Amino acid sequence: MTPIRLFDTYERKIREFKPISPGKVGLYACGPTVYNYAHIGNLRTYVFEDILRRVLEFNGLEVNHVVNITDVGHLTSDADTGEDKMEVGTRRTGMTAWEMAEFYGDAFKSDLRQLNALEPATWCKATDHIEEQIAFVQDLEDKGYTYRTDDGIYFNSQKLNSYGYLARLDISGLQGGARVEQGGRLHVTDFALWKFSNPNEKRQMEWVSPWGTGFPGWHIECSAMSAKYLGDFFDIHCGGEDHIPIHHTNEIAQTEASKGTRLANFWMHGYFLQLNNAKMAKSKGDFIRLETLVEEGFSTHDYRYYCLTAHYRTQMSFSLESLDASRTALARMRQTAYDWGEPGEISEEYLHRFVSYINDDLNMPRALAVVWEMIRSDLADEAKKATLLKVDEVMGLDIGAWHPDAIEAPAEVMNLLQERELARTEKHWQRADELRDMIAEYGYVIEDTGNGPKLSR
Ligand code: AMP
Ligand code: ZN
Repeated sequence: MTPIRLFDTYERKIREFKPISPGKVGLYACGPTVYNYAHIGNLRTYVFEDILRRVLEFNGLEVNHVVNITDVGHLTSDADTGEDKMEVGTRRTGMTAWEMAEFYGDAFKSDLRQLNALEPATWCKATDHIEEQIAFVQDLEDKGYTYRTDDGIYFNSQKLNSYGYLARLDISGLQGGARVEQGGRLHVTDFALWKFSNPNEKRQMEWVSPWGTGFPGWHIECSAMSAKYLGDFFDIHCGGEDHIPIHHTNEIAQTEASKGTRLANFWMHGYFLQLNNAKMAKSKGDFIRLETLVEEGFSTHDYRYYCLTAHYRTQMSFSLESLDASRTALARMRQTAYDWGEPGEISEEYLHRFVSYINDDLNMPRALAVVWEMIRSDLADEAKKATLLKVDEVMGLDIGAWHPDAIEAPAEVMNLLQERELARTEKHWQRADELRDMIAEYGYVIEDTGNGPKLSR
């Protein structure tokens, strides 16, 4: 098999990926801050992480995928001044912080299901891990990395020689040019580990700690929870590119100070989806949701296909015209695959070429080009069908579940149907029957036609 090569932001180069424990991969992805819906920019990052996971699994690795939910402590200003985004969200929505976390957390998970992203093995919420975070801060205090100001306990970034290496931060330049409001911090790169509640205001989310009542800083949750679920040094940590200079830099600092490791062997970052030449951002309020696209007549799979058309390490400039091109391409791919009829033997040659691209730092645009070349080739239809169903394990487009006359079914049902098609291709009849029963529980029946399954109520 072609070796897997991935770009590691820490080393700033493509390296061969070898799991720390043979056959197993620990993967941690920074999750959403749940004070609002996710926008399609956020979702681009989660599609990238889903592709990463699928590629690792396609290579026969078992992936332990952990995603956190930030439901406390992410402040409106990166300088750790300003308000908790959750508290701001409660004023906008009228919900309590707890209700809001539940509501937007569920909306986020639903978006991921609609996009056919595989469910993580573990979802972990910051507010469910306060004890672990306090213990982590305590350890940093015991090791001499912290100091106290009027409003909290801070990490002293100058105590760590390697601070800022991930982002190649120019520390002295930053310190010299410090104009941002520094609060009581000693250095501009210091950050909050624990913030005290304002004595004049009752916070909705606060906890007693050895330093005073308050709440954890944003970065400590990821160091504490990844250690709990994946250990002190695991395979891959990912997030969007905005996490490089602050959030991931600070996660590494905390873990390095406490455990002596740089947390993950590979650091991977998805690049931004831009709108009108600017980063699409939750805080701007005028962002595009997945639901907005559906209201415009697109399917969630159209958006997934669109994400595959650019490499994850390039920014993408969103437009409805380019999404429309993806819709057309996906529709053709589905219809053509349907017309091919029953799958036969997989083409090893095309499969090999596909794998050589996905294993080359997830080069999905090139892999997709190979798929189209295969579709247009003079290979027998049965081989094309089998090969397309196989590579769709990585693309995740539910190609085999599509039928021209099928009724609209929720993404969950389409995913199960696709899984059943794959099971049938691989002659796993028992699994196929189980999947049929699972689909029946949703109230759908399958009719197997010569071209593919047809779904009805
Ligand atoms: P947040 O909910 O703001 O903490 O962000 C959730 C994830 O989306 C993080 O991994 C961010 O880095 C990522 N992200 C934020 N904005 C964008 C964007 N415009 N394009 C791609 N990823 C983004
Ligand atoms: Zn994180």
